Amino acid sequence: TTANILLNVNSIEVIYNHVILVLKGVSLSVPQGSIVALLGGNGAGKTTTLRAVSNLLHGERGAVTKGSIECRGERIEALTPADLVKRGVVQVMEGRHCFGHLTIEENLMTGSYTRTDGKAAVAQTLEKVYNYFPRLKTRRTSQAAYTSGGEQQMCAIGRALMANPTMVLLDEPSMGLAPQIVDEVFGIVKDLNQREKVTFLLAEQNTNMALRYADFGYILENGRVVMEGAAAELANNEDVKEFYLGIS
Ligand code: ATP
Repeated sequence: TTANILLNVNSIEVIYNHVILVLKGVSLSVPQGSIVALLGGNGAGKTTTLRAVSNLLHGERGAVTKGSIECRGERIEALTPADLVKRGVVQVMEGRHCFGHLTIEENLMTGSYTRTDGKAAVAQTLEKVYNYFPRLKTRRTSQAAYTSGGEQQMCAIGRALMANPTMVLLDEPSMGLAPQIVDEVFGIVKDLNQREKVTFLLAEQNTNMALRYADFGYILENGRVVMEGAAAELANNEDVKEFYLGIS
C-alpha cells in the first residue's frame, strides 16, 4: 500500500556540472520501518541517489533536474539538509567522516545539534547509542582518529542516531571493513530497525551482505534501476547471482 511509504523517489534525473547526466530517471520507494538496499557497482549512481534525497548535491555541483522526491507525501527537494534532519531524515556519508580530533563522545554529540527537546532527552539517546554500540562506550574518550575503521563507522551511525531519526541514509557502511566487522555493523542496523523502528536506505556494493539484512532491493546500473524485488527474491535470482553476488 502507498499509505506506509516513507520515501518516494519519482523518476529523478541528476546532472553534475550542468552537463554530466548521472541519474536517468530513478524511481524507488521506501516503506516505513523497512531496510531498503540500493545496489550496483562502482559509479552506478548509488551515492548520487542518496545525495539527491538528502539535498547534498549542491556542494558537488549537482542538481535534480527532473522528477520529484517526497517524504510522507511532502515534496522535500527544496529543503536544506538541516531541515531534513529536523524531519527525521539523516545521512551517514561514505567514508565515515568522523571528526578525527574530537573524541568519540564529542563526535556523537555533534549529531544532536538540531534537537530542541533538551539535555536530558539527548543524554538518554546517548545511553541508547552506547547500548547498541558497546564498543563506542569503551572508546568514548578516545580521539576518533585513533580508533579502528569499524569503530569510526559505528561512530558515524551513532552520530546519525543522536538526531533521533526516522530514516537513515547509509552510504556504503561495509567499505574498508573486515567481513566480521561488517557483520557486526549490519547486525546492529537490523536491531535498530526491528527494535527502534528506524527505516534505512542503504547503498552497498556488497550485494551479498546487503541482501542478507535488507527487506527490499534496487539494482542500479549506469544511472537506471535495472532490477528490483524482495531481498530474498533478488538473492535467488540467477542474473543477480551471476552478475552481483561475486562483488563485495
Ligand atoms: P561508488 O560506490 O563509487 O560511490 P556510486 O554508485 O555511489 O558508486 P556515484 O558516486 O553516485 O556512484 O557516481 C555515479 C556517477 O557520477 C559516476 O560516473 C561518477 O563519476 C559521477 N560523479 C559523481 N560525483 C560527481 C561530481 N561531483 N561531478 C561529476 N561527476 C560525478
